This record gives sequence, C-alpha cells and structure tokens, in this order.
Amino acid sequence: MSRTKLDLVCILDGCTRPRKARGRCPFHYEKARLAGEFGDLGKQCQVEGCRRRHAAKGYCQQHYDEHRHELRKRRSVPNPEQHLIYLRSLVGIPAEGPTEEQRRRWTLQEAS
Ligand SMILES: [Zn+2]
Ligand SMILES: [Zn+2]
Repeated sequence: MSRTKLDLVCILDGCTRPRKARGRCPFHYEKARLAGEFGDLGKQCQVEGCRRRHAAKGYCQQHYDEHRHELRKRRSVPNPEQHLIYLRSLVGIPAEGPTEEQRRRWTLQEAS
C-alpha cells in the first residue's frame, strides 16, 4: 500500500506534501505555474488590467478575438487618402494632386 501513498504526494524530489494538481503539491504547483511550465495555462492576457487566462498571441480569448477583428478591419478597409496617393504615384501624379501642367496636358489630350 505504500505505493498508493507515494502516488499521492508531490512528484518533486524530496517533497512529501500531498498532491494538489498536475502531480504537485500546492506549493510546487504554484511555482511551476508561475514559471510557465504548463504552457499557456499559467500565462495571463497581456492587456492592461485584464486578468483572464492567456488564449493566443498574448491575449485572452476575448481580447484575441477583438485583436483579430481589428486587424481584419484594418486590412479590408485601406485608408482612402493613402490609397489615392498610392494610385497617383503609380501614374506619376504628386500626392497632393495633379499639377497645373498635368491638367493642361490632359485637357489638350482630351481635345485632340
Ligand atoms: Zn511539492
Ligand atoms: Zn484579455
């Protein structure tokens, strides 16, 4: 029966405290958890003031969803202003718009 007894104590060498979780006594369990030994389980969300458990990319599930949502939004709706400047740069127009010279040339082209 001594084996059963042994199985109920902390797995850490020399520790005889009773097990609490993951084969460890409360003391060693907490120590391992804080050290990140259980992977993401011990980590917390990186958002200031959020104490939920870490889910992905440093965030809890809720903040991760928000973060992902935010990223998708930024990707799908490009800044219209920036986009216009980009399009202008493709055809050699300054960021602030066509120059007088360019406008005159276009008018001439349209007329011909
Ligand atoms: Zn222990
Ligand atoms: Zn969070």
